[in-house]
Amino acid sequence: MKVGRIIDGKAFAAGLREQVATGVQSFVAQAGRKPGLAVVLVGEDAASSVYVRNKGKATLETGMESMEFRRSATISQDELLELIDELNGDDDVDGILVQLPLPDHMDDKAVIAAIDPAKDVDGFHVVNAGKLAVGEDALVPCTPLGCLMLLKDELGDLDGLEAVIVGRSNIVGKPMAQLLLKENCTVTLAHSRTRDLASVVHRADIVVAAVGRPEMVKGDWIKPDAVVIDVGINRVAGKEGGKPTLVGDVAMSEALSHVRAITPVPGGVGPMTIAVLLRNTLVAACKRAGLSPPEGL
Ligand code: NDP
Repeated sequence: MKVGRIIDGKAFAAGLREQVATGVQSFVAQAGRKPGLAVVLVGEDAASSVYVRNKGKATLETGMESMEFRRSATISQDELLELIDELNGDDDVDGILVQLPLPDHMDDKAVIAAIDPAKDVDGFHVVNAGKLAVGEDALVPCTPLGCLMLLKDELGDLDGLEAVIVGRSNIVGKPMAQLLLKENCTVTLAHSRTRDLASVVHRADIVVAAVGRPEMVKGDWIKPDAVVIDVGINRVAGKEGGKPTLVGDVAMSEALSHVRAITPVPGGVGPMTIAVLLRNTLVAACKRAGLSPPEGL
């Protein structure tokens, strides 16, 4: 039986981080300072706290400056906006990331809107979303940009390919669609109201699943030799009371005999997200300093 290739996102991300580290050295030589990433965490959510710690560690490993701002869940939105304002005005800060979700009494949109678009390394600000939509140079959300890098590495030129993205969120599905349109794919954005999802997915050369439902995309939905990018991260109960495990949105074991290549969960898209965050921080720093970002990033 034919078995598709498993895309090693961890290895690709490690290569990207090395490229960023080299770019950081050249930035320091030219600008006389390190690029800086400020990460803001409000509240004590355990998962968010781990993400923030990992981001800080990865930032330092590339030679950049990492700044962490931890605030209690009880601070007011105005206090958070004041902090963002300070970071916007701080010349040593090139990237600002506010870890989501924020506590219920805060409006995520208003907080993101307060970030200087030139420092919006998550690419969530409407200015960056708008620029991406009209084809202007923008800071692009990390996860979809990471998916695009993996797709180009696997397929080379994407021109004319049929791409189906399942999920239309502002942070994954929609920017993914914009990026693939820019690569001249024919793009379909599927969602919870899509009729006959199986046959929509079956016409795709490229499938990007970003839904948040364990193994929802079945193996026989996938066209032979399609490339599948599984963005989903779902924690499911372990068998017979064992430890919980992570699975994607695609039924991996079924899909393997259909695909040309597929990203695993974990070890596929996940490691790319942090690597692209570092890449975006370096790119933002270069633009702010009037330097060209390193080639190939
Ligand atoms: P959202 O919940 O914001 O969006 C989910 C999308 O899936 C929505 O557009 C929804 O449609 C669609 N959907 C839900 N049910 C169905 C269904 N039965 N059939 C078709 N479409 C459906 O999720 P995110 O985009 O934030 O995240 C998606 C997944 O990716 C999650 O598992 C998340 O954990 C993971 N993720 C992973 C990252 C990484 O670094 N690897 C980063 C970001 C996310 P509708 O709009 O109609 O409601």
